[in-house]
Amino acid sequence: MQPIEKMLQRLPVVLFQLQIFDNGQLAFPYITESAFALLGYNAPEIVSNSSLIISKIHKQDAFGLKRIFVSSAQTLSIVDFDLRYNHTEKGIIWINITAKPERDESGTIWYGSLKNVTKEKEMKSTVVENEKKYRATIENSLNGFIIGKDGAVIDANEAAIKMFGYDSLDDMKQKQRADFFDDKSEEYLKIKRERTINGKARGEVHGIKKNGDYFPCIMFSNFFIDANGSSNTINSFIDISEEIEANEKLIKIQQLLTQAELLAEIGSSELDYKTGKFLWSDGFYKIHGLQPNGQEITNEISEQFLHPDDRHKIKLMEEAFIEKKDHLEFDSKIIRTDGKIRDISSYWKFTYDKEGNPLKMYGVVQDITEKKEQEKELKLLNHELVLKAQKLISYNNELERFAYVASHDLQEPLRNISGSLQLLKIKYQEQLDERAIEFINNSIDSSKRMKQLIIDLLEFSRVDSAHLEIKKVQLSDVINEVLTTLSPIIKQEQATIEVGQLPVVYGIRTQIVQLFQNLIGNALKYKSNKREPLVKIAVTEQETEWKITVRDNGLGIDARYYDKIFVIFQRLHKKTEYNGTGIGLAICKKIIETHGGSIGVTSEVGVGSCFYFTLPKK
Ligand code: ADP
Repeated sequence: MQPIEKMLQRLPVVLFQLQIFDNGQLAFPYITESAFALLGYNAPEIVSNSSLIISKIHKQDAFGLKRIFVSSAQTLSIVDFDLRYNHTEKGIIWINITAKPERDESGTIWYGSLKNVTKEKEMKSTVVENEKKYRATIENSLNGFIIGKDGAVIDANEAAIKMFGYDSLDDMKQKQRADFFDDKSEEYLKIKRERTINGKARGEVHGIKKNGDYFPCIMFSNFFIDANGSSNTINSFIDISEEIEANEKLIKIQQLLTQAELLAEIGSSELDYKTGKFLWSDGFYKIHGLQPNGQEITNEISEQFLHPDDRHKIKLMEEAFIEKKDHLEFDSKIIRTDGKIRDISSYWKFTYDKEGNPLKMYGVVQDITEKKEQEKELKLLNHELVLKAQKLISYNNELERFAYVASHDLQEPLRNISGSLQLLKIKYQEQLDERAIEFINNSIDSSKRMKQLIIDLLEFSRVDSAHLEIKKVQLSDVINEVLTTLSPIIKQEQATIEVGQLPVVYGIRTQIVQLFQNLIGNALKYKSNKREPLVKIAVTEQETEWKITVRDNGLGIDARYYDKIFVIFQRLHKKTEYNGTGIGLAICKKIIETHGGSIGVTSEVGVGSCFYFTLPKK
């Protein structure tokens, strides 16, 4: 074999001569021996019967191939076509046919080559498929992708356009890398340094939106230099502003919770029965005298804090589980790590799985040592107060008894004194001179006055509700009774008494009669000499009581004496001006206080006074 023939046989391509006659007939006048390796037939077979290989051309490619050859024959253009060939043994393979036409007298003749391009075809379709896949992945990704070349944006997905606040990809393409993040920042330079070493890197940077706002994001950066020497970057971004915000919120809430726990001296915990892990909050650690998160806690460790006197309470927990209780509450003592004994109140909540096995136990404990101590002071204080009140009551009773006995017993000798003075005056009038008679008269006046004082004092000492029953009292009846009693003086002074709508109150009737009698009596007694007395009695309803006012147009009282006039024996006038002992208002005050109310006065000198007091509705 000639070397040229050997070469042609071993060529990785098949060289051929193809002739198509004007009548449409087709023949391979020549084909290299390498045809066998490619087409499955040796050269002489093909030369003698071209249809052997023509019939093996894939149906979908045969039509196209024919058209190309027809056109090539007409225009003498070069044929370059990829077709599928059904190889008897290898199955479908891709063959590229390249041929140059020439005209001759019987038709057209092509000189060309056939080449197996199956591998290239497969590679190409893999590349196309991969490209489709990656594009879909990037397009569907929630991460923002920006693909850059030599610092300029050449592509970006929807997520990136949105994340950086742009309207479209074209909008983004106008920008440079530095418009999307500070490419001089230390955080980016760090990523860049790592990327130079590994070809890829990740880190946290601050993205810049179109409107200039910054947002925190995680950046994944890939870098490579392509065949043309251009630098290519594929950067993807995850916006973490929401996570950071949520995280900050969580930290704040946790801090608040810790703060609240510490303030309330509360601690919370969670025991996981599967892992045996016992989680304690900072407050829980503190209550036990431990540094927060200082020590890993187990159920056993937790139980060791219980005071020996309260160890039996562990049983309560076990029983609660057996009985599938939902929760348990108890107080106990614990011994802290510093040896101090503290009172703890605890609340435990249990959860179970479907089979009824314990899952978790949540606990809230509170240090109630101070509270318990306070309760103990308070109890002591209360006891002392009760004792003092009892003492006060008995002193008061004694005092009242004394006032009663004294005033009662004083009446007898006083009667004797005034009787003797009267007798002295009558029997020895003739013997006594004028001055002596005057002394006797003065003494008789004084003893009369003393008698009145004693009577009033006796009355004052009798104001006591202990043995009197509280009943419904119709105030209008009370006023009618008082006005009847006072009618002579009302007539005498030509006084007008105006009475509004009066309610039913709860109290001791005789005392309320006396109260109104004293107040109306005073209104008439301390009248103005410039006008006839006018007394107005009015009532206003309050939530639990009635407020009653007795208003007059009399002398009035200087504000300095508002309190003084309610004190026993305190008077603003001389006995020569106005009769009286200074007990009337003290009695009124005692009556009102006995009824659980209050009494006071407002007044204007020369205009009149308004006495007000409250009586219970029920
Ligand atoms: P008495 O009338 O016996 O002096 P009271 O206790 O009733 O005793 O009154 C104390 C003092 O309050 C009276 O002396 C009088 O100066 C003054 N007072 C009481 N009621 C009135 C009133 N309606 N107008 C002006 N002064 C009054």
